[in-house]
Amino acid sequence: MGAAEKSFRFEQQVPLYDAAEVVVVGGGPAGTAAAISAARNGKRVVLLERSGQLGGMGTLGNVSVFMPVGNVTGIYREIIAEMLADYLPPQEDVSISPQYSPFLLRHYLNEKMKKEGVEVYFHVDFVGAVREEGRLRAVIVSSREGLRAFAAEQFIDCTGDARVAVECGVPYTTGREEDGLTQPMTLMFMMQDTGKPVTPMLPEGCEVYNDVSDLPQGRRLYWERNGDGMLLVNMTRVKGNGAKIADVSRAEREALKQVFSVAHYLQRNGFETYALSHVPGQIGVRETNQIQGLYTLTEDDVTSGRRFDDVVAQTNYEIDIHSPDGKRRPTSAK
Ligand SMILES: Cc1cc2nc3c(=O)[nH]c(=O)nc-3n(C[C@H](O)[C@H](O)[C@H](O)COP(=O)(O)OP(=O)(O)OC[C@H]3O[C@@H](n4cnc5c(N)ncnc54)[C@H](O)[C@@H]3O)c2cc1C
Repeated sequence: MGAAEKSFRFEQQVPLYDAAEVVVVGGGPAGTAAAISAARNGKRVVLLERSGQLGGMGTLGNVSVFMPVGNVTGIYREIIAEMLADYLPPQEDVSISPQYSPFLLRHYLNEKMKKEGVEVYFHVDFVGAVREEGRLRAVIVSSREGLRAFAAEQFIDCTGDARVAVECGVPYTTGREEDGLTQPMTLMFMMQDTGKPVTPMLPEGCEVYNDVSDLPQGRRLYWERNGDGMLLVNMTRVKGNGAKIADVSRAEREALKQVFSVAHYLQRNGFETYALSHVPGQIGVRETNQIQGLYTLTEDDVTSGRRFDDVVAQTNYEIDIHSPDGKRRPTSAK
């Protein structure tokens, strides 16, 4: 019998590890901000993160540049003021796009959570939801000690994959309507200027790119804003849905090959003194699952700058949809 035709029933009594008023699942930009906000509203907050660091794609995926969002307000403004003070604009409606060290952000967020009184647990991977009388009572995580439960009055799903919502039966979609494809994945990496020529290195199985048109994204895209010789490279691209086991497994292998191939290209085309210095532990996933919420934001809402009475966040960044099939659109979409 093939794996697809088979399923198993799995039942286990799971010990409670901790209880809080608010449990936040996922410690990326959304989860850390949600945890800070809940703590400031007087709640005891527990944050559950499956990796060993906070910051989500911004640290784990090395997406270490904040794009210009047209406003520097709220918790984002605090982070800039405390960690990247040189970039802090005097007015809130000024755009900035700082490049930052993911290692520094990782440390900064650890300290920030301590100051805010948020209890952070690492290496706890949400795997299941315990529902009673139509309410979520506890979440189950896989931890270093086995399965453990965390109970709360309120839960905030910041997994980036709507993982908790999906387990609770919230309707969701994945991929675009016409063909189910999602935005591609990218493994961002760093190179460091060594000040002397380096020998371009190309491990077995990687490709020789000679022209811009050979590159996975067909373009050169990198940032070197801080004058410290550190180059942040966003030039790999792998199609697939980051929520699918097979797609993400293939993507991790393919993207790493692209990292070496792109670095080899750059070392022969303008970055002759740069060595590969940091490849994060996981590929960057742009898109997986979307819950079907009470309201779906439309392109028209965004382009017309529509205002909502129950606003919780604001930004004016462009509609930044990376084409799942690589085709360019006659709009601002990438
Ligand atoms: C390649 C790439 C390039 C990008 N470029 C930029 C850019 O230049 N500038 C910019 O501002 N934005 C950029 N973005 C977008 C930005 O990274 C995201 O908008 C942002 O990270 C979303 O934050 P989040 O907290 O919702 O999710 P994430 O950052 O994905 O964080 C989710 C967190 O939840 C944790 N988690 C997931 N599942 C579980 C689980 N089951 N149990 C426990 N924890 C779990 C994860 O480990 C992670 O820490 C880019 C994204 C990618 C992938």
